[in-house]
Amino acid sequence: MTKAAPLTHVPLIDLSLQVKPVKAAILKDWAEALDKGAYINGPHGKALEAELAKFLGVKHVVGCNSGTDALLLAVRALGIGPGDEVLVPSFSFFATAEVVSLAGAKPVFCDIRPDSCLLDLGEVRKKLTRRTKAIMPVHLFGRVFDVAELKALLKKAGRADVKVIEDTAQALGATLKGKRAGSLGEAAGISFYPTKNLAAAGDAGALATNDDAVAATARRLREHGMPQRYTHTEIGYNSRLDELQAIALRHKLPLLDRWNAARRQRAERYAKLFKGLPLGLPQQGAGDVWHQYTVRVKGGKREALRQHLVAAKIGCSVFYPTGMHQQKPYAKGAPKLPVTEAAGAEVLSLPMFAELTAAQQSTVAKAVREFFAA
Ligand SMILES: *Cc1c(COP(=O)(O)O)cnc(C)c1O
Repeated sequence: MTKAAPLTHVPLIDLSLQVKPVKAAILKDWAEALDKGAYINGPHGKALEAELAKFLGVKHVVGCNSGTDALLLAVRALGIGPGDEVLVPSFSFFATAEVVSLAGAKPVFCDIRPDSCLLDLGEVRKKLTRRTKAIMPVHLFGRVFDVAELKALLKKAGRADVKVIEDTAQALGATLKGKRAGSLGEAAGISFYPTKNLAAAGDAGALATNDDAVAATARRLREHGMPQRYTHTEIGYNSRLDELQAIALRHKLPLLDRWNAARRQRAERYAKLFKGLPLGLPQQGAGDVWHQYTVRVKGGKREALRQHLVAAKIGCSVFYPTGMHQQKPYAKGAPKLPVTEAAGAEVLSLPMFAELTAAQQSTVAKAVREFFAA
């Protein structure tokens, strides 16, 4: 009896491949750190902050526990709290709004542009009030939101005082007009969550800013609001960057631009493979970094395509099925945001990582074609 050929599994992302070229070097430095007992506030943490600041072209980087904490530190360090409003695009990971609430301020949900899935400036114009203290655009899926355009709008509205906090969790390494995402506003939050373009071996994050006072406050807040040992000047957090994560990140950072270029190439390959299919294909600019390759499936067919791909052992996922304004903590009295809600029903993210092979991409395309041919 002959067995049917086994289905080749194509994962959404393969973390083991990314670490491969630097695994030995990381393990060597980890062993040294273990021997020294240097786990927190060690030399690698400080070195990583300096290297990231240089990479981004910013004055300060403050390492912390996660991307969520980096955004929270940014909100707090900019003095945003109770009574304040922060405009956020509703189509993002929950942390974007959550940190605003954690700081005691109110997230005001804005709709997105249908083409880019990024914050819609028309919405900003509509929802700006005298209580608006900041705007937190998200460089979603690795696509850079144009902060300069937003700043021009704010200036025209007589509101140049409104701060811009970039959620750069998904776009480290991306550039727009020669500048890195994460260097464009008053502060930025970066995530090194293991599926992000630059991945730690666990949770880690960093805040980036050109503002000396914001950096100093963030440094205090990440360590219990403690400018000097056992003198506490405000309520802070325990959100330091641990040394083992810093070591992993220091070995990977020099490879990030190469990895991001590989993602671009894979996105181009997908565009060719999917030509002619009734799919909305994602567009990104030359400096964007393809954190996700997210297609739009119209006509209510997204769920059926997702199931077809799961059955064909193709990794895929829905980022994000609902807007944050539709989540339980925010749903009461929330506005309708039709573009966000339509995106939630249509998006499907396909395998995307720097090591994805041409053969794997052909397998993905074949499965997608089968679905539309049926
Ligand atoms: C991952 C992510 C975060 C949170 O980062 P963590 O490191 O997981 O805390 C925030 N915003 C967006 C858009 C993200 O994708």
